Amino acid sequence: MRVLVTGGAGYVGSHAAKQLVKSGHDVVILDNLAEGHRQAAGNLPFVSADLLDRPRVVAAMQEHKIEAVMHFAAFAYVGVSVTDPAIYYRNNIVGSLSLLDAMREAAVNRIVFSSTCATYGIPNHVPITEDHPQHPISPYGFTKLAIEHALADYSHAYGLGYAALRYFNASGAAADGTIGEDHDPETHLIPLVLQVALGQRESVDIFGTDYPTPDGTCIRDYIHVDDLATAHVAALEKLKPGMALKLNLGTGHGASVQEVISLCREIAGHPIPIRTVARREGDPPALVADASAAKRELNWQAKRTLREIIQSAWKWHRSNPRGFGDSQNRVCDANC
Ligand code: UDP
Repeated sequence: MRVLVTGGAGYVGSHAAKQLVKSGHDVVILDNLAEGHRQAAGNLPFVSADLLDRPRVVAAMQEHKIEAVMHFAAFAYVGVSVTDPAIYYRNNIVGSLSLLDAMREAAVNRIVFSSTCATYGIPNHVPITEDHPQHPISPYGFTKLAIEHALADYSHAYGLGYAALRYFNASGAAADGTIGEDHDPETHLIPLVLQVALGQRESVDIFGTDYPTPDGTCIRDYIHVDDLATAHVAALEKLKPGMALKLNLGTGHGASVQEVISLCREIAGHPIPIRTVARREGDPPALVADASAAKRELNWQAKRTLREIIQSAWKWHRSNPRGFGDSQNRVCDANC
């Protein structure tokens, strides 16, 4: 298939694009490089455009004879979405609606959408199944849920085939070390811990040790970005016009913040000083996927363990201490 990957210069998008190529598909990347890294798109055909520029998106679809879209382009900082919701509503909702209209205009009727477990809000129970109520507690989660609703309505009315893939904690890096996580600013646990191991930060903060979990720290379901990528390809290959797939992508296993830090210490072989600080607003105690629907629908399950996730991330961060080297505000106290 000829696939347009929006946000293909971003973290999950670039890994999915690579996996699509590996699986024999033709890929065109569309990215405005607001958050992405040109280098992450490699040598793939690249369209520098914003989703809000609908004529340009339609032209790209027509020029490249696009048959399906994988849609990753979005802002994804929960905290910023609270302090500056306007840019989240405009980029994630208006941008996605503009993309859906462009697809109708260019007669493209299949889309795999990057959704999130943040659409569930604070869960009533874990592991979380897809029929769990969706009550997001951040504007970010709400923007993703709004697009899930739009997809369902477009599917019903216009015969769009879609997969809404609700990721748990995307982490790790490509096995060949060519691409990995590079956010600016970085807010995610594993890269932050590894930056301490690299001497780029003095310590890592643990946000709360008084949660109702065995060691008092939050539990998350960390899933390797390449496992996410294979699920996207499987979903795309299954989609037919009018089909609706709503699937959790996780491993079904949770790890606490303390467990992640201990494993990072062991793998990096460096001491990692910690500071215990207050809970971060909006963090549920535990988020773990029930991943059985993806297994049933896509014959997919995550293969990589937390150890493999951290090993691949460590390889990436150690070889690329400045990430892709194009960020302005990277924290870099030493060694780089
Ligand atoms: N976390 C932490 N210190 C940090 C960053 C994250 O203790 O500096 C915790 C956070 O509270 C959450 C887990 O690590 O329980 C994963 O956070 P991350 O931001 O990586 O992903 P999220 O779960 O927010 O999508």
